[in-house]
Amino acid sequence: MNITCNHCLATNRIPDNKDARQANCGKCKQRILAGIVINLSAQQFYPVVERNDVPVIVDFWASWCGPCQQMAPIFEQVASETDTMLFGKLNTETASEISADANIRSIPTIIFFFRGQEVDRISGPLNQMQLKQWIMQCVQKLSEIN
Ligand SMILES: [Zn+2]
Repeated sequence: MNITCNHCLATNRIPDNKDARQANCGKCKQRILAGIVINLSAQQFYPVVERNDVPVIVDFWASWCGPCQQMAPIFEQVASETDTMLFGKLNTETASEISADANIRSIPTIIFFFRGQEVDRISGPLNQMQLKQWIMQCVQKLSEIN
């Protein structure tokens, strides 16, 4: 499976018989799934969302948005507790074309992607429990599709 390194964004190919959670990056040698929220640029967004065989959860935010600021540490906390998915954030001001493509109408909006496909999205501020519950629902939905 292909997974983007949390640290250097290199694409790593992990053999099926290896535990991806324990894998280190071939390029920077650090843990690939480190539970760090990746700050995605407009250029990085599609490669990361499309070239991963693990879910990629993206928080669409803006610096002027109060609820987004509130969400940020919650999103980081949940990311740090999850070692089977990637978490990213996209600044809708600096990457406005991506946010238009993704049809973002309000922020914060969080989208759960799997292999480039949107599985679900949720808008408005969430607390930690709500975010975790929504992610679990997305995983459930994913297992029903596949
Ligand atoms: Zn790396």
